[in-house]
Amino acid sequence: MTGKELQEKLGWKFPDIAEKYPEQAEEAGRFCEGYKEFLNEGKTERECVKKAVSMLEEAGYRLFNRRETYGPGDKVYMVNRDKALIATTFGTKPASEGLRLNGAHIDSPRLDLKPNPLYEKDGLALLKTHYYGGIRKYQWSTVPLAMHGVVYLEDGTKVEISLGEKEGDPLFCVTDLLPHLAGEQNGRKLSDGIRGEELNVVIGSLPYEDSKDVKEAVKLKVLALLNRYYGMTEKDFIRAEIEMVPAYKAVDIGLDRGMIGAYGQDDRVCAYTALQAEIGVREPVYTTVTILTDKEEIGSVGNTGLNSDYVLHYIQMLAEREGADFKEVLAHSLCLSSDVNAAYDPTFSSAYESRNSCYAGKGCVLTKYTGARGKSSSNDASAEVMAQVIRIMDDAGVCWQTGELGAVDAGGGGTIAQFVAGLNVDVVDLGVPILSMHAPFELASKLDVYHTYLAFQAFYRAD
Ligand code: MN
Ligand code: MN
Repeated sequence: MTGKELQEKLGWKFPDIAEKYPEQAEEAGRFCEGYKEFLNEGKTERECVKKAVSMLEEAGYRLFNRRETYGPGDKVYMVNRDKALIATTFGTKPASEGLRLNGAHIDSPRLDLKPNPLYEKDGLALLKTHYYGGIRKYQWSTVPLAMHGVVYLEDGTKVEISLGEKEGDPLFCVTDLLPHLAGEQNGRKLSDGIRGEELNVVIGSLPYEDSKDVKEAVKLKVLALLNRYYGMTEKDFIRAEIEMVPAYKAVDIGLDRGMIGAYGQDDRVCAYTALQAEIGVREPVYTTVTILTDKEEIGSVGNTGLNSDYVLHYIQMLAEREGADFKEVLAHSLCLSSDVNAAYDPTFSSAYESRNSCYAGKGCVLTKYTGARGKSSSNDASAEVMAQVIRIMDDAGVCWQTGELGAVDAGGGGTIAQFVAGLNVDVVDLGVPILSMHAPFELASKLDVYHTYLAFQAFYRAD
């Protein structure tokens, strides 16, 4: 055996999908058209749930009823408070032999309106915001924003807001200084470039027509328009959840159209691919549990986040149906914590360790551990779980790679994996490499999106 042959036999290098499967570019492109539509229709967790429910209903899923009997291939779903969702296809094996869980999150970083947001200052009407999730604040100024959310009126009526998505809709914006006057601001640290209390959104500039004896006529004009459009008053902001999100649509990036640029790909890219794999599976061996969860970006808190027991309670109901012990069900289950990872960026290479980073175009990324400062707050999947998931993907010809979230001590982060592990379920992170993660505009390779879908499909089909 020559040295070159031996090197090929003993060494390992993750292949480029485009080199290994050149014919898949077209397939991946087709698959991603549906993904782009999902991104455009789901800019908030509530909108993602709504879109997912319509996709599931169309595919024959029915609301889960714990008193009904289900057989292999039957498909059900349940919704948690309009912000999270679980879908299941019943398998041929009993739940006591374990479930196949796949959890992605549908909340994304954004600017939330404060409970008392509207004010007028020096002739402009503005909205106070409190950012949601980890953002680099300077990235969110001078970006066209849309207004999405829900508001409850005095009489209990629920009103949904989606303004800035249709051609011709007005948009909103956080301002920034012109370079000519930014001398002082330029001396700030980048993390301070735009401060939290500077993330104020312009919502109006004209005074109310009859402004005689009116103190804040620009604010009044905004209130009059909000009342005309949504029937709301200033007090109703307190019983609302309004999210300011980038207004643009998902687009192709590059002359070769190899990537997608869009807001909210973390983690709607895994939500969409998981949902498509869930919908496509016919009669799996193991019962599937596809979870689209909320609040991951702020630590999986709240009763729609994965640190609550809503998934556990669902699994308890699945176990009860067949008289199984839910503890046994959990102990035999396997879960993919489906979330994105930071793709190696050649422009900022020092933040990464090149041998252990994921790369755009090399497939879905299997992340053994996340965390910060010595794996703190990570799940750290076992060798056994890594072996099981790698075998499933290799058997199905899925292109996958491994990757850490940046160089050691460069920063870090967490996912839902630690909370799934807390249920005594085997779990590992798997997802799509993303460039500019958490920016108002994130990039993902279409081939990686497609192979993440193939990985989820293989995971549900495997015996
Ligand atoms: Mn994420
Ligand atoms: Mn994130």
